[in-house]
Amino acid sequence: MTTISNRLQDILATIQSIKAATQAPQAISLLAVSKAHSSQAIREVYTAGQHAFGENYVQEALEKQGELEDLEITWHFIGPIQSNKTQLIAQHFSWVHSIDRLKIAQRLNDARPTDSDPLQVCIQVNISNEATKGGVKPEELASLATAISALPRLKLRGLMAIPAPTPDPEQQRTQFKQVRQCYDALKAKGFPLDTLSMGMSDDYPIAIEQGATIVRIGSALFGSRLQSQHD
Ligand SMILES: *Cc1c(COP(=O)(O)O)cnc(C)c1O
Repeated sequence: MTTISNRLQDILATIQSIKAATQAPQAISLLAVSKAHSSQAIREVYTAGQHAFGENYVQEALEKQGELEDLEITWHFIGPIQSNKTQLIAQHFSWVHSIDRLKIAQRLNDARPTDSDPLQVCIQVNISNEATKGGVKPEELASLATAISALPRLKLRGLMAIPAPTPDPEQQRTQFKQVRQCYDALKAKGFPLDTLSMGMSDDYPIAIEQGATIVRIGSALFGSRLQSQHD
């Protein structure tokens, strides 16, 4: 019988073996993506030792946060951000991976409570040039990073990407490499970044090989999601 706890141990072992096999020098952490999964499932993963969880939908996340108040979870917001949700996100999350415009960053900054640590943020970059996907174009990164760095209640940590899904490992590699190049280019400009959030259940080994520091894993840990109720 495979339990959530077995799957967690398997994923953590895979992360370490890929890191060793590819001689990836960076530290890698797992973000457990719990969208569409119950508070009970999150509690089980937490009890097995995983304390960072990612959610995509504000209302769904707030319900679970209420039910899990007794746990010391670090909550990451990883979904598309509507401007009318920025206040709740700034109040109820430690991290936001999906910033893709200055207006959203400013609203998060303005709403971040002064008695909390600065909100830890990543800019979402779109290397596949798909109009339907979130994220800023690589050529717009430096100016957005400069503007975000000036916001006192936000701490810019790095980049996040969701490359176009493909079963072809070479295409996965090419896409992650492009994200990595964007990250390296920003660091070369002097931004003190330490976070490259990329890789999901189907492609995280190659993301690690290409420098991911956070892999965001949902279905490989929790099992497949039922049809989303948000569409
Ligand atoms: C759902 C989601 C994930 C996890 O995807 P899996 O394929 O289930 O691992 C990671 N990142 C983002 C932004 C997501 O929306």
